[in-house]
Amino acid sequence: MMQREIVLHAHAQGHFASKKTESIVSQEFYIPRLTKIVQDVITNCVPCILSSRKAGKHEGFLHPIPKGDQPLDCYHCDILGPLPSTKKCYKHLFTVIDSFSKFVWIYLVKSTSTKDALDKLILQQTIFGNPSKIITDKGSAFTSTEFQKFCQEESIEHIQITTGVPRGNG
Ligand SMILES: [Zn+2]
Repeated sequence: MMQREIVLHAHAQGHFASKKTESIVSQEFYIPRLTKIVQDVITNCVPCILSSRKAGKHEGFLHPIPKGDQPLDCYHCDILGPLPSTKKCYKHLFTVIDSFSKFVWIYLVKSTSTKDALDKLILQQTIFGNPSKIITDKGSAFTSTEFQKFCQEESIEHIQITTGVPRGNG
């Protein structure tokens, strides 16, 4: 218990992230399994819990909370292709990347149309619900009124970025 108190004391000086808390403690004390105790203390630290919606992946109180900090909250959508050689009519790939987990869904689609994109987004929706944000480039599938209308009706914030700019980290 004493060890826990030492860790808590060090952490509470600034509600530091685990690495910094660990280094403060280890300057003065040797505590076996320190990493685990530090993580335990931070996970249970009420001010940290309140200041961070990112449960489990704690970066500490002093860090800004980035956008798209929950799974399935922010999607990066893109249409790639055409594929060089496919016998079938599915020549393009509609990709959805979850900005938090970087999980990628890839769908084969026939064209770069809004309809094909929306079909797949609606498929995602039936499984996972809606994200609160969708980030796309300015491809025609995404700039169409139909796509805008879908986002409005589903209360999804649609953010369009210019092609060629590296994708932000959410
Ligand atoms: Zn804390």
